[in-house]
Amino acid sequence: MIRVLVIEDEEPLRMALTDALKSEGFDVLEAADGETGLQMALREGPDVILLDLMLPGRDGFSVLKAIREDRLSSAVIVLSARGEEWDRVQGFEYGADDYVVKPFSIRELFLRMRAVLARSTGETPGSPDSGGKVRLGECLIDFGAYTVTRGKSREHLSPMELELLRTLMNREGEAIDRNTLLELVWGRNAESTNRTVDTHVLKLRKKIEAQPDKPRHLLTVHGVGYRFSRRGEG
Ligand code: CA
Repeated sequence: MIRVLVIEDEEPLRMALTDALKSEGFDVLEAADGETGLQMALREGPDVILLDLMLPGRDGFSVLKAIREDRLSSAVIVLSARGEEWDRVQGFEYGADDYVVKPFSIRELFLRMRAVLARSTGETPGSPDSGGKVRLGECLIDFGAYTVTRGKSREHLSPMELELLRTLMNREGEAIDRNTLLELVWGRNAESTNRTVDTHVLKLRKKIEAQPDKPRHLLTVHGVGYRFSRRGEG
């Protein structure tokens, strides 16, 4: 799971960010001042740090500098307010990976987070649409290479398995009935039946679930169809 540290003293913004990140499946840590944030960053080594500049006590620049002096590899996205002394060049010199200017949309922030994460770890969280790699429990699913890697073992996904997984992931949390899945994945005129969906789900479970008979991600919704959970349930 990708861990994000939010260092922001403005409480409503910090809470809104935390909620939005949690609902996207990120593991979130928060700090309301620079010193606490820095200690948390050095202790926890989050994947991404969202760093406000104007903070009580230690300011964002000083936190950024200390993080880099410690050679912490976390990606840092600066949350800068209009009119604040944010010099782009200086920021990048200090080791920021990117920045957003307040007020920013959550969508914009997520796009930037995905970009910096893709650069720093080679893993793209969130949407599988980009042909990126998505971490799912112990597995790394590569939507560009049609593979699932677990530890040292690697398995291939068929185009239909990949498409079925992508469809379920893109509608995470939603129970999708078999007919809809057939239509979305195989197309309206395909000579496929509901059994086709079931057999592909079984094959996918063998590849992505730690215990295929006790699935945590590809869940059966009785009387309906299937539902995807990134976090894993049960
Ligand atoms: Ca602030």
